[in-house]
Amino acid sequence: MIEVDLHLHTTFSDGRLTPTQLVDLCAERRLKVICISDHDTTEGLAETFEAAKKHPGLTVIPGIELSTDVEGGEIHVLGYFLDLEDPVIQSMLAKFREGREGRAEGMVRKLNEMGVSIRWERVREIAGEGAIGRPHIAQALVEAGYCEFPKDAFDKYIGRNGPAYVERMKLTPAEAIRVLADNGAIPVMAHPTYSASKSDRDEVGSLRETLAALKPAGLLGMEVYYGDYTPEQVAYLKALADEFDLIPCGGSDYHASGNPGEPEPGTVGPPMSTYEALVAAKKEVDALRVR
Ligand code: AMP
Ligand code: MN
Ligand code: MN
Ligand code: MN
Repeated sequence: MIEVDLHLHTTFSDGRLTPTQLVDLCAERRLKVICISDHDTTEGLAETFEAAKKHPGLTVIPGIELSTDVEGGEIHVLGYFLDLEDPVIQSMLAKFREGREGRAEGMVRKLNEMGVSIRWERVREIAGEGAIGRPHIAQALVEAGYCEFPKDAFDKYIGRNGPAYVERMKLTPAEAIRVLADNGAIPVMAHPTYSASKSDRDEVGSLRETLAALKPAGLLGMEVYYGDYTPEQVAYLKALADEFDLIPCGGSDYHASGNPGEPEPGTVGPPMSTYEALVAAKKEVDALRVR
């Protein structure tokens, strides 16, 4: 039985369930530990903790997902047990969200120049209070009939190598790890291998080399039990996590995206021992910080 899901998104970034809806769903699926890890924002966490009060059996870890640049792709870094009161990280997140606005507007402009008529106002409206991202543009493209599913928009228009893609300001992976470590959070590499069928999700270089560089930078965990990974992928990643002494994390990365076959909360996640290892790591981090 799956009891832990450490990778979830709400309407405060590119997920389509509110924190309350997501928490209720996770409780209904009998999850015991969840982490809300929205992109570049912690604004959904107040509502998350409020909603979790109704479910005494459910523990919520405050988290974040940061996107970072590497040659030829990107690496996402999760931070668990984020200190939300830290003004340094909050001003950085605000800058990232600002970068997302101009960049999303740029992608809509490019689409319009290509003759794809979706309106910026509509994309903004879909994103609502959330940190705007490509899934919001994808949703507008589906609405306007340009794509059947959001994922098709990535293949056709807004994937990394797509004709309407626009870059935005990002950190390097080592910088993101540093920012999270300075905050007292536990830095974890997200979805280290993306399945080849998802064009936007390129495998970045040799994973072993990447880990050899990021472990000394302070990486403490890596996703292993993730999304739609096959048992072979999970076994491969578990062995790598063990080799580099990284806590094997994971979760559904649920967005309620509307894409077919999306892994749902309660279908994939790490064992309870992962949560225990994270709690122990957090204690160690805190002990070192007060010294
Ligand atoms: P952004 O943060 O604006 O760069 O958008 C990236 C987000 O788009 C990811 O967090 C996923 O939620 C989603 N995404 C990325 N690649 C794909 C894909 N190939 N199909 C569907 N969704 C994707
Ligand atoms: Mn996302
Ligand atoms: Mn990600
Ligand atoms: Mn994610």
